[in-house]
Amino acid sequence: MIKVSVIGAGTMGMGIAQIAATKGHQVCLYDNYDGAIEKAKIKIQKILNRLVEKDRITNQENKEIFNRITFSKTLEDVNESKIVIEAIIEDLEIKKDIFSKIEEIVEKDCIIGSNTSSLSIASIASACKNAERVVGIHFFNPAPLMPLVEIIPAVQTSDNTLNTARKIIDEWKKTTVIAKDTPGFIVNRVARPFYGEAIRIYEEGIADFSTIDWSMKEIGGFRMGPFELMDYIGNDVNYTVTETVFKSFYFDPRYKPSFTQKRMMEAGFLGRKTGKGYYDYNNEKPLANQNKEDGKKILWRILSMLINEAADAVFLNIATKEDIDLAMTKGVNYPKGLLAWADEIGIKNILKQLEELQSEYCEDRYRPSPLLRRMAKENKTFYQ
Ligand code: NAD
Repeated sequence: MIKVSVIGAGTMGMGIAQIAATKGHQVCLYDNYDGAIEKAKIKIQKILNRLVEKDRITNQENKEIFNRITFSKTLEDVNESKIVIEAIIEDLEIKKDIFSKIEEIVEKDCIIGSNTSSLSIASIASACKNAERVVGIHFFNPAPLMPLVEIIPAVQTSDNTLNTARKIIDEWKKTTVIAKDTPGFIVNRVARPFYGEAIRIYEEGIADFSTIDWSMKEIGGFRMGPFELMDYIGNDVNYTVTETVFKSFYFDPRYKPSFTQKRMMEAGFLGRKTGKGYYDYNNEKPLANQNKEDGKKILWRILSMLINEAADAVFLNIATKEDIDLAMTKGVNYPKGLLAWADEIGIKNILKQLEELQSEYCEDRYRPSPLLRRMAKENKTFYQ
């Protein structure tokens, strides 16, 4: 079993270290912030104890998994690793600095992966002399539970690095998909309208938060509604991702952030973690009884925008159609792959909905992907 190192013992780093140790690897978990590594040690032990209580692992396994993890404040301890996965703060300069230091410590054949959500892998890799060893390895939160991992080769990444990284993560029984090194990769790009269009519908006064959430869950089959999910993720985190994606796409209006969410963030209404967001968690109200007709319209509008994003990602070769559908079902629990869903609804119907929105609002935000136009014209489907 190869040695695995994880840099950064926060939410993601702890989860990744737990996965690797559970799969039998010797793991070095490194963090250099005050108290971070001590906290991580206690947290991981707590999580493993809980797994014993739930009969998921035995007492013996608990000890073995925990003992495989070395908690370290010394970067040199990552030596002899065959793969290092970085999960520190989302800051390009700090990431570049640590990548160049890691490269000085590990052997030439060691892969260095980044768990970044929004930075370009090419820019992180540029910090290394041996940039072909760098690759994006993007887990979802909580890492031990979410099956999806996006693997992102940078322009510098060698085929060997890509294939070896994918093989290791596949052996951890994760669902891997390959994504182009573009803003948001697959999930954080394709999912934008789930939030953005939902907020827009609210801003126009068409429906309130709970009606929109109800439509997506009860009629659409989504596990959580957009507002519940934003409250869960945190309005600060979700707004920042939206803003980063918007800037990274050279201000394409399709990804425009909303004032509604910005104000929630500014007010400190961050969601569950502050007790108040779109909902008040100290005084949880049941969802109101909604009108089915409006619910269908709301679902249709958000879903056609999501399908448009997914189709455009196929059009621009961000990933294969199969990987895009897998990413959305395994990374964010969508009830169906968006492209398979498009086939069910009919490409022409999706296109019609988008064209109606575009003609009503005269906004580029609603422009249909050229792929949908082409497919409608040629009577094509994604799968059938
Ligand atoms: P976090 O704040 O929980 O943890 C970051 C950890 O990195 C902290 O323990 C901090 O002490 C440590 N750290 C910061 N700078 C360091 C340095 N120079 N050297 C060593 N340790 C350092 O953050 P997180 O949510 O775990 O996110 C980590 C990375 O994973 C980010 O790149 C983020 O974009 C990405 N990510 C986050 C999520 C998520 O939902 N939280 C999901 C996927 C990817």
